[in-house]
This record gives sequence, structure tokens and C-alpha cells, in this order.
Amino acid sequence: MVESKNEFSYQELLQKVKEQELLIEKLNDEKQDLTNFEYFVKDSLDLICIADSNRYFKMVNDAFSEVLGYTKEELLSKSFLEFIHPDDLEATLTVFQSLTESSRITDFENRYIKKNGDFVILQWKANLNTANDLVYSIARDITDIRKTQEKLLSSEKSLNEAQKIAKIGSWDFILMTQELNWSNELYEIFEFEKIPNDPQLYNKYLSCFYPKDVEKLKRNIDNTIANKMPYEMEHKIILPNQTIKWVFCTGVSIVDNNDNVVALKGVVQDITQKKQIENTIKAKEKAEASNKAKSDFLANMSHEIRTPLNGIIGFTDLLLKTKFDKDQLEYLTTVNESANTLMEIINNILDFSKIESGKLELISEEIDIYELSNQIINLFKYEANHKKIDLVLYIDPAVPQFIKGDSFRLKQILVNLLSNAMKFTFSGHIKLNIIQTEEDDVISKIKFSVVDTGIGIETQNQQKIFQSFIQADNTTTRKYGGTGLGLAISSQLLALKKSKLKLTSSYGAGSEFFFIIAFEKISQKQSNPSETTNFEENKSPESSNSLDNYKILIAEDNKINMLLAKTLVKKIVTNCTIIEAVNGYDAVAISKIEHPDLILMDIQMPVQNGYDATMAIRKSKTIMHIPVIALTAGVLNGEKEKCISHGMSDYITKPIVHNDLEKVLHKWLKK
Ligand code: ADP
Repeated sequence: MVESKNEFSYQELLQKVKEQELLIEKLNDEKQDLTNFEYFVKDSLDLICIADSNRYFKMVNDAFSEVLGYTKEELLSKSFLEFIHPDDLEATLTVFQSLTESSRITDFENRYIKKNGDFVILQWKANLNTANDLVYSIARDITDIRKTQEKLLSSEKSLNEAQKIAKIGSWDFILMTQELNWSNELYEIFEFEKIPNDPQLYNKYLSCFYPKDVEKLKRNIDNTIANKMPYEMEHKIILPNQTIKWVFCTGVSIVDNNDNVVALKGVVQDITQKKQIENTIKAKEKAEASNKAKSDFLANMSHEIRTPLNGIIGFTDLLLKTKFDKDQLEYLTTVNESANTLMEIINNILDFSKIESGKLELISEEIDIYELSNQIINLFKYEANHKKIDLVLYIDPAVPQFIKGDSFRLKQILVNLLSNAMKFTFSGHIKLNIIQTEEDDVISKIKFSVVDTGIGIETQNQQKIFQSFIQADNTTTRKYGGTGLGLAISSQLLALKKSKLKLTSSYGAGSEFFFIIAFEKISQKQSNPSETTNFEENKSPESSNSLDNYKILIAEDNKINMLLAKTLVKKIVTNCTIIEAVNGYDAVAISKIEHPDLILMDIQMPVQNGYDATMAIRKSKTIMHIPVIALTAGVLNGEKEKCISHGMSDYITKPIVHNDLEKVLHKWLKK
């Protein structure tokens, strides 16, 4: 019997079946593995794909199409390069081509464009299988992480910038790890080099403190940790390069859910600049206060001196009108002149201090140049006649009659120049020339010059006489008197008008002092009723006999001034009744009972000053019509305007001069 080769023994068959069963089992296991793998791939949150060497997807998982918004078919139909952000193409190709069996891709990032046009940032891991030349890749969508990181970075940058602008540095300190973090600006403030995790940072920080502040800081920190109390400190620091800065520091505690302090946080602000400004302001305020004290002192002192001087001038004026023998007349004239000189000096010193402290402001009012220059010349006519000197006023016909300026100060300068000329000239002439040098529709530039044929000034002295308290030579005071302030004041007044006092002089032959001022023109005379009616100065008084039997109230707190005013009024108004009031309040009350015909009102009085009293009079129906004549110190800027604005009818300056008072009384009593 021939046994077939295919015939197996039972044993062999059993063996074969077992092998078959094992193979099936293995195949089933592998099938199960494959199914498991498919489940993982399908449900993976990461993006999984297989690509071939032609850069086509062979497989993409659900996450891939979900994240990109394309169907699997759309993804599989194109080269994956078509989905990559153009800016990342080159880098992607480079890493893709660098894939070998041994070198895999890890953590490569690129951007894929989604179907809706947005992009996602993917982070890749990939392997090349050389057996089938396929690339197996897995990617994670890290768009949100990157965007958050970007935002964090930009907000950190903004914070750093804000800290830099505000010069505020911040810090935090973790108690558990003893970790101290400083912001960039804090390093800038302390001018420390930034060393990461510097264990010496806190000690370096403390080394910039003054010892007393170190103690205070430690106490504050202990208190903040123990009692959760925030702290604030303002102190100086000295940097290693010896620079001193001012800082303002705050610290607060940070607690965990169980209310335990786990960290401290705080800010440090560089307030050096603020401190410097504060110090400058303080110094300025101090200087201003002392300057004000000086000005107040001068103003008070000059007031105190001026009051008795007014008495001396006024009463000697009166006495001089009575009969004396020659010697007595000479003595009395000397007293009167000395008092007048003293008054002038006091006024000069007061002016000078006001200009120096920047308190003197010029006013702008209508000036009649013809009237003003004639008034000034009139002041010197008597002396010129006496000294047999020709006194000449020349006004260029081109000079506009009316201009805008400060008449009081212009007069002051010209009077000063003319009185110097008069003082230093003994023969020949003195001229006041007024010439227009330039004009346009609005401005007229006028040159004022005072020319004399006096002693002249030596060349070497021509500069220095413009300085305060300086005279041409040491003999001047002895020979001619004066304080050496006149030219300095005139120069400073002119500087306020952007003008300059100039001089040409020839020693022994004479001098010319001149200046040019640009005035605003007044095209046609603007008639100002209050001024024209109230302050006409040049009218000659009518005969004093015509004033008879009036009731006049004099408000004056100073006894000497009161006596002087009473004496003068009695001389001018025959049979007059004089009522006295020692302050503004009494003046108003007495006026309501007595109804005087006119009130002479001092300005500076206790209880109620002259301005307030006049306002009260103007408000009271029964006495509002009574003329009120202000008795002013006559040195303050804008006093005339102030009198008018407070309802006064007219004003005369102290010391009261007989003629001035006579004019005013005539004007207001006969209305
Ligand atoms: P004061 O006249 O009060 O001394 P000023 O400042 O007005 O002060 O003048 C300063 C000095 O300038 C005078 O002392 C005098 O020496 C000199 N000076 C001023 N004007 C003239 C002048 N017209 N002729 C000669 N010298 C003059």
C-alpha cells in the first residue's frame, strides 16, 4: 500500500490544527489591536495623519478635519502644502525633507489655514517609516496657548512701559520659597544690573537705605505679615554711585484661601523729580513771602513816615503864607524844602523796591501829551526864572495829542530828568523836546529828550550813573543832594515799556537824556466824562471869596492830617462848619445825620477804609448825592481808577496843597 504524502498522522494533524488555531487567535488579536488603534486615532483630540513622500495625505483623523473645517475627502485630495500658511511653507518643507529613519520631527510649529480663512498653530511630532516611505505625524492645536502667551507678553510689555513712564517698579516676595521678583523698572530705579534669581538682591536693596529707614521697613514688613496691614513709606535712598533719590514705597500682603499670608507685593515709585519741584516751589514761596514781608514793611514804614511829613509840609506851607522876618523865612523855607526832599526820597525808595520785586505794573490810560508836558514845564518855571535859565518846550507838530500810556510814570521820568537838569545847570537853557520818530496806523513812536547846558558828565561816569544809589562823583551829594535813585528808577520804568534811557554828554558843556516809547495811538479824542469832568487839573481856581457857609465833613484818623485839612478848608471856605469823623464807619453814620455839602475822605482808616465808606454812602438814598473827595497817598498805581470805581467824585493827593484843595472845593461845592 502506497501511503499518500499528504496524509498526516493524527498527531501531525492535531499539531497543524493547533497551529491554525493559534494563527487565527493571533490574527484576531492583531485585528483587535488594529480596531483599538483605529478607535484611538478616531477619537484622538490631537490631529493625526499619514502622508506620503509626494506630500499627500494618505490618512487624516476626525480631529484633523474638525479643526481645519475641511472634509476628509477635501484633505486627502490635495497636497498638504496647500493648507499651510504661506509664511511657514519653506520651514515646513525643510523639516519634512530632513526626515530620515533616525531623525524624527519633534515640537515643530507651523500654521494651517482653516477653511474659514482663520489659521491654527499646530505643534508636530512626525516619524518616517522607510519600509513604506510614509510619514506618520501627530499634531496638537496650540493656537489658544500661543495667543494667551502673546497677550501675556504684550500686557507684560505694556506694564513695563507703564512702569517706566510712571517710574514705578513692582516686586513680589513668596514667603514659602523666599523668592523675590523685581520688575524691570525697579532695577532701573535702583540702577542695579538684572541678575536672575539673585540671592543678594534684598541685601543690595537694603544697602541703599538710610539706617533709620531700614528699621522702619523691617517693622512695616513684619506688621504686614503678622497683621495683614499694608504699609507706605517715603524716604531717600543712596545708590552705589552716590546718587540720591527719593522713593515712595507701598507693600501689601497676599493671602491664600485659608487667609494665611503667603506672599507680599508692593510698588516703589521714584519721586525724585516731584520732590525737586516741591522743594523749588517751597523755596519760591519762602522767597515770595520774605519779599512780600519786605514790601509790606516798606509800604507800612513809608506810610508811617509820610503821615507826619505831610504835617510838616502842610503846616510849613501854611506858615510860609504868614509874615516873618528874613531869617525866620529862610529857616522855615529850609524846613519845608527838607521835608519835601525827604518825601521825594521815600517815594523813590518805595518805587525802587516795588520795581525790584516786580510789583510795579504800568497802566494804560489816555494821555494828552500837550497838557502833560505843559504841566511838567510849569513845575520848573519858577526855578528856571529864579536861576535865569531858559526853559523851552518843543513839541513836534507830528506828535499826536492823545496817546495811550501811564501818565503818572511818564511824568515821573520827565520830572526826574528835568529836575536833574535844573539841579546841574547854572546858565543857558533846558529844553524838553518831544518828537515823533516813527508811526503807523496804530503806533506812534515818540522821542522825549531833556537837553541842558549844565555841568555835563565825564565819560567814565556816563554808564555808572544809571545804577541805583550811584552819583557821578563823591562830591555830588554834598554839593547837590540826591540819592542816586532817580535815573535807576527811570531806567527800570522805561524797561517795563521796552525802552531805554540814553545819554549823550560833554563834560562842562551839558547833557542830553533821551528815550523813545512806542505808544498806542488814539485816533480821535475819546471823551471820558468821568475823567474830563473829575480830573481837570489845569483850571485856575475861582476866587476863594465865593465859597461861603458850607458844611464839610472830614474823615481822617490822623490828628495832624486832620488839623491840617481843617486849617486849609477853613482858609478856603469862609464861615464853614467842619464835622470830624475818625473812620469810615463814623463818616457814613454822621453824614446820615448831618447831611454835609462835601466829604473829604482819607483812604487808609481803621474800622472802615475810605473806599468801603464811599460805597456805603453811594448806596444810601439820603446821602448818595454828596460829593466825596478822596485824600490819597498818591503813590500807588491805579489809585485814581480805584477811587472812581469805588464811587468817589474826585481826589487830591497828600500832602494837601492849598491850591489843589481850593480847586477841588470850588469845583464840587458850587454844583
Ligand atoms: P540823584 O540826582 O538823586 O543823585 P540820579 O539817579 O537822578 O540821582 O542821578 C545820578 C547822578 O547822575 C547825579 O547824582 C549826577 O551826578 C548825574 N546826573 C544826572 N543828571 C545829570 C545832568 N543833567 N547833568 C549832570 N549830571 C547829571
